[in-house]
Amino acid sequence: MSLEDIKSAGLYRRLRNQVDTGPTRAVFDGRKATVFASNDYLGLRHHPDVLEAAARALEKYGASAGASRLICGNHELYGELETKVAALKGQEAALVFPTGYMANAGALSSLAGSRDLLLMDKFNHASLYDGAKLSGAQLKRYRHADTDHLHSQLERWTAFEHRFIVTDGLFSVDGDLAPLAELSSLAADHDCTLIVDDAPGPGILGPGGQGSSAHTQAHPAIETGTFSKALGGLGGFVAGDRETIELLINKARSFMFTTGLPPATLAGVSAAIDILSAEPWRRERVQKLAAYVRGRLIEIGLEVIGGDSPIIPIIIGGEQDAFDFSEACLDAGAFIPAVRHPTVPRGRARLRLTVSAAHSDEEVETMLVVIGRIATERGLI
Ligand SMILES: *Cc1c(COP(=O)(O)O)cnc(C)c1O
Repeated sequence: MSLEDIKSAGLYRRLRNQVDTGPTRAVFDGRKATVFASNDYLGLRHHPDVLEAAARALEKYGASAGASRLICGNHELYGELETKVAALKGQEAALVFPTGYMANAGALSSLAGSRDLLLMDKFNHASLYDGAKLSGAQLKRYRHADTDHLHSQLERWTAFEHRFIVTDGLFSVDGDLAPLAELSSLAADHDCTLIVDDAPGPGILGPGGQGSSAHTQAHPAIETGTFSKALGGLGGFVAGDRETIELLINKARSFMFTTGLPPATLAGVSAAIDILSAEPWRRERVQKLAAYVRGRLIEIGLEVIGGDSPIIPIIIGGEQDAFDFSEACLDAGAFIPAVRHPTVPRGRARLRLTVSAAHSDEEVETMLVVIGRIATERGLI
């Protein structure tokens, strides 16, 4: 697709000039707004403990890791964080990557090879698809969250050395959960390895914020995820058995050939994980807000999808309509971005609204009034 094609299809993207003016506030191209778009679901990006831990590490260790981890960038803070991640995930070991994208690319490209099969949910994150391509394995997609379809594929495609079922835990665009318990038993019954990308899960799902597998009482062999969402930092991880982690250290190119995260980032994320158990009210607050907003939007008469999560997609339909709705919201002081093809199927363009424990009741009420008014004006309800 050329840039011209992208423009004429209503899919043109550009970067906005953005100035953050608080945990939930920003100015976009001169327009002041409350932000309902961030993945900082618990408000940890600005938490004083996170800031203090990061500031101390910055002061003590400097601004950069200085090298890849296999050379001399393997800071002591890595070990501490990896131990915490493994414990949070109930796995033997964990490995930190610079981003969740790189964790997925590294995991799939290292664990699967040309004689293997990857069975992937159609709506999996782009980084899983990119990792799948890099692996050289055969790739089959099953219909979104459709375990019957997956089952028929498992029966059909058997002539492979090793088979993997790969899924997002919580789908970050649609905001719904994968049927992880069923996927776990399908994997066990068919001698497959289940890999769950739980990027948005840690912090918001599970009784202690462990993520989507604890929430659904599933036990995937391998989990990946990110620190850049509810944990308010940056970085990705793979958690699994010790041998898998050792293999990744020796094989994952997105781990080997890149610089380690800055010490301040590691310290901030480590502090954020401690807050999950110290301040469970944040998780309760965001879940309560999400259920409330979801209920009110449905009352207004809008089509809202997804499930039990702070990601609340409002289906608009047309690409341009979604964009215009989002712009009208921004003019009225609420930033709710439009998500369009190729992130979502054509004709299913939407607003992707997220709530955070950091939002005040007043900010939420104002946003709901704005959405109701614009939906009425545009004849959507
Ligand atoms: C956000 C996300 C990622 C990417 O994580 P980053 O750390 O931002 O690179 C991967 N998978 C899923 C499902 C995500 O939601």
